[in-house]
Amino acid sequence: MRYNFKDESVQDTGVRFPKVDLKKDEIARVCVVSPYFEVTVRHWVNRMGYIHCHAAGQVDSFLELAKIEKDAGRPDQCIMCQMAINSDFKDIVGYPMRHFATYILRYHTDVRGNLLHDQLSYHLEIWLMGNKKYRELISMQKEWGSLQTHDLELTCIEAKYQNFDISLKKEAHWVKQKAQVVEYLKVECEKYALSECLGEIVDKETLSRRFESARRRAFPDEEANLSTSIVPEVEEKATGQPEASESDPFASIGEVVPPVVTEEEKKKADEPEKTGTLEDLIP
Ligand SMILES: [Zn+2]
Repeated sequence: MRYNFKDESVQDTGVRFPKVDLKKDEIARVCVVSPYFEVTVRHWVNRMGYIHCHAAGQVDSFLELAKIEKDAGRPDQCIMCQMAINSDFKDIVGYPMRHFATYILRYHTDVRGNLLHDQLSYHLEIWLMGNKKYRELISMQKEWGSLQTHDLELTCIEAKYQNFDISLKKEAHWVKQKAQVVEYLKVECEKYALSECLGEIVDKETLSRRFESARRRAFPDEEANLSTSIVPEVEEKATGQPEASESDPFASIGEVVPPVVTEEEKKKADEPEKTGTLEDLIP
């Protein structure tokens, strides 16, 4: 699919956050400390980075969100979905793709993943991942229980795409200093809204203006009267949209994860008691 991972960086979403970013063969020891994932459907847009699909705000379940991706978009609801299926814009706007974000605690280790000090030291990072990694974590959780109670060892096998081998560890180091870690997380998680880490929220009008000024920069000599918007009207019904397949490979996921985190839920999720929940989940 036309989905440009290589431009993924902190700048893409317009916000700075401590992102998981490993070098080739580097091993990180981490723990998925939050019971929550943020999930969205987003578009990669040339020179703008990742932008939340406008259709994503109109659904209220994980499965419906997955369906936006499966259907290759909602051209009647989202201008970017419409552009993605238009061959004129194929290098400008990517198809809507699901992406996930969660908070992790990353221990300070050497490059082989061994703890540096006897005393535990760590910091918060945000792990952004595609569907494949997400499903891997979900299946680990199904088999081994809450991911909060097991550290993970991430071995970077491909730095460019931040592709990791994930192995689950018997223990979670952080539990030894549970109180301090929970206090730390209460403060640190507050600083970063996962939704903003995943993408920028840009309304249709702003997006149209941005495309228009990008076009003017690209073609400064073009006469003003030719400057019909390069952005197609959302109302136009798009054609050539692939049909949704009958079977739903994501159906089982909905059972083990909370529904898609809406803006309202996000606010709740960002509240300090989230880490209180985390504490409760530790046996
Ligand atoms: Zn869209």
